[in-house]
Amino acid sequence: SVLVGGVTLTGSLVAWAKLKGVMSGGQIFLPGHQAINLVLLATVLVAGALALFVVPVGSLTLLYQLLAVAVLASFILGVTFAIPVGGADMPVVVSLLNSFSGIAAAMTGFVLYNNVLIISGSLVGAAGMILTIIMCRGMNRSLANVLFARFSLTGTGEKEEYVNVKSGEPVDAAIAMANANSVIIIPGYGLAAAQAQHAVRELQSMLEERGVDVRYAIHEVAGRMPGHMNVLLAEANVPYDKLFKREDIEADFKNSDVALVIGANDVVNPAALSDEQSPLYGMPILPAHEAQQAFVIKRSLAAGFAGMKNTLFESDKTLMVFGSAKEVVNGIAEELKEQ
Ligand code: NDP
Repeated sequence: SVLVGGVTLTGSLVAWAKLKGVMSGGQIFLPGHQAINLVLLATVLVAGALALFVVPVGSLTLLYQLLAVAVLASFILGVTFAIPVGGADMPVVVSLLNSFSGIAAAMTGFVLYNNVLIISGSLVGAAGMILTIIMCRGMNRSLANVLFARFSLTGTGEKEEYVNVKSGEPVDAAIAMANANSVIIIPGYGLAAAQAQHAVRELQSMLEERGVDVRYAIHEVAGRMPGHMNVLLAEANVPYDKLFKREDIEADFKNSDVALVIGANDVVNPAALSDEQSPLYGMPILPAHEAQQAFVIKRSLAAGFAGMKNTLFESDKTLMVFGSAKEVVNGIAEELKEQ
């Protein structure tokens, strides 16, 4: 309990500091990092073993001293465990630490003979672990890779050169969608960043009034946490039956007139299908490139979370509409009124 609880407490504080920007979001490695982790782990285990098996009954002072050593080493281990993880991988670590907190509670339940703690702790531990695994699978990475790999998918900083990128204005998207039968909206992290969910909901209603079939394609790792897009769109009262999981809608793209990509990048990158060198290779994507036409709303040609060039932006069928998601979507809605 002390080990898992201590690691969870300080690890969560580091995760908070990284996500809040209080400390650098990059990976931080100390010299001999894994050796330090092992020494700290061994310290906790040895202190625990001594406390349990060596200290004579009644020697409370020594027991507390050993406990203090274990607590301190666990606190430090929480910090050294969390600092090597890149800021954008932090959601996985937060979920893992959440799972750890459940495990710590369950273990305490065994010590105290408390069934409620055992059951509730196990449920929290299992739920957090399932969430962690889902997030890793969706990113096509192993948990060990997220926690220990000495590279981060984030911020490679490489300036990728794009050729033949076509850009347009909100009016182009409005005309195409006004004349479409079927539109699939693909929301991504940028939609959340711009808080454009209400604008998108309004656009959906306007299109539906014109008889256009509008559906949302939700990728399992779109955004920065599982269910991010579902929660965001639910907040704007988008009906649940309009939201489709990737596997339930991916085959429909080729029969759709328009794919409207709003602040998504990695989850629509066709390089994941074809480029074996890409860190995204193997990750299932939403095939926006298969629709008759794709409009991509984002502020620039900057990369997404994985730091990779997106070949969708160079496709003949794609028109980039540059700008912040909320303004562009509102602009499309304004233009739609004129059509
Ligand atoms: P991405 O991170 O790939 O891309 C988001 C895009 O949004 C950026 O390219 C950015 O481009 C654009 N953007 C940012 N702000 C705005 C804005 N105000 N208006 C319009 N566009 C904006 O997002 P995806 O959702 O496609 O993919 C999620 C990624 O996050 C995946 O790689 C996934 O593995 C990873 N991830 C997901 C987790 C999850 O559980 N969902 C957890 C951890 C990581 P620009 O700057 O040009 O505007």
